[in-house]
Amino acid sequence: MSRCLTERSVDHVVIERGEVANSWRTERWDSLRLLTPNWQSRLPGFGYEGDDPDGYRNMPEVIAFLTRYAQVISAPVETNTSVMSLAPADGGFVVTTDKGVWRCRTAVIATGACNVARVPAVAAAVPPGIATVTSMDYRNPRQLDEGGVLVVGASATGTQLADEIHRSGRPVTLSVGEHVRAPRVYRGKDIQWWMDATGLHDERYDEVDDIDRVRRLPSLQLAGSPERRTLDLNALSAIGVRLVGRIAGIAEGKAQFSGSLHNNCAMADLKMNRLLGTIDEWATQNGLDREVDAPHRLPPTEVESTPPLGLDLTNGKIRTILWASGYRPDYSWLEVPVLDRKGLIRHDGGITAHPGLYLMGMQFLRRRKSALIDGAGDDARDLSDHLLSYLRRASS
Ligand SMILES: Cc1cc2nc3c(=O)[nH]c(=O)nc-3n(C[C@H](O)[C@H](O)[C@H](O)COP(=O)(O)OP(=O)(O)OC[C@H]3O[C@@H](n4cnc5c(N)ncnc54)[C@H](O)[C@@H]3O)c2cc1C
Repeated sequence: MSRCLTERSVDHVVIERGEVANSWRTERWDSLRLLTPNWQSRLPGFGYEGDDPDGYRNMPEVIAFLTRYAQVISAPVETNTSVMSLAPADGGFVVTTDKGVWRCRTAVIATGACNVARVPAVAAAVPPGIATVTSMDYRNPRQLDEGGVLVVGASATGTQLADEIHRSGRPVTLSVGEHVRAPRVYRGKDIQWWMDATGLHDERYDEVDDIDRVRRLPSLQLAGSPERRTLDLNALSAIGVRLVGRIAGIAEGKAQFSGSLHNNCAMADLKMNRLLGTIDEWATQNGLDREVDAPHRLPPTEVESTPPLGLDLTNGKIRTILWASGYRPDYSWLEVPVLDRKGLIRHDGGITAHPGLYLMGMQFLRRRKSALIDGAGDDARDLSDHLLSYLRRASS
């Protein structure tokens, strides 16, 4: 957004409570690599120039990439400055920070979709003696006691952490709810390549049937590893991770799981095969069938015939529960009345109902790719155009 505002000669400042790339510096686990390939993190006027376009950046590489971008575009970043409140004032906004007060005509909220770990209400009933950790606090397996771990959530975060923790010698039980399965590589190409080439990533928020539902969909079960391996539930079962259903409650020291595991897995298999079918059709229509490998399908997700519906949390077998049950934004500092009853900002493709207030970086904000680094550029172009015309209208 800063780069787009500069291009449009809009005077602005970027306020950041940490250093540039703060979320990647302070809120991610040690072994994390992007699940999007290097070529895919395209920012306005800045792409990948290295010799490994299909690799996946580790955290130091992501931090270096974003820091360099801020330097190249001369972004006017005020680092180590926390916004304490943003409130309407005199047809614009007053922004109170721990380093002073700013006044502005327009404001773009780009504080991220993942500020706080979302933990289900059942967490309140976890028996004493079981350690709990969220995916935001988790750094590496050494931080956990020896012994079994219940990982709750089986999307990108949960599957990656279940894999790492189980391989560290701590037996993992994985609680699986609704999830989206995908192969890492399909017909010889990265799944992200297909989603980009077919235009799926560019699908717009006003073109989908039920945008509220799509915005709530969990992330693809994907991991970026040098071997480009598929990390799905079958891969986890193969190393010994035990699959159970979605956590429904904890009573008298026992975790209870819903009986929906078979259904959730069957649904994920069905949707994955539908996605691969769409890709196959597109490949044929675009004359790619000879250039890429033949179509293939992954085996269905294997689930034991009667997965356990309960797990004793008091017999010492489970020592830790790791909540990988999603994230939510934190708007505790926002004093503009734009929140819905779930505490999320109401918006139309990033344009809020409050004149001059914009939003970035949310799931499917304007396009399917909006919450990816790669999606920021197109959204920023659209929203900075809108912002500029708003400023012009307001001053005429
Ligand atoms: C575990 C995980 C893995 C991910 N993997 C990928 C991936 O592989 N590829 C990909 O493209 N995307 C990935 N993403 C999504 C990626 O984080 C987002 O695309 C990207 O971070 C969005 O950038 P953003 O600047 O909108 O939000 P953020 O990166 O969250 O940045 C928000 C910034 O706002 C600052 N901030 C927040 N509140 C305040 C305040 N009150 N005052 C001042 N500053 C504040 C924060 O310090 C932070 O620096 C992942 C996300 C998570 C959580």
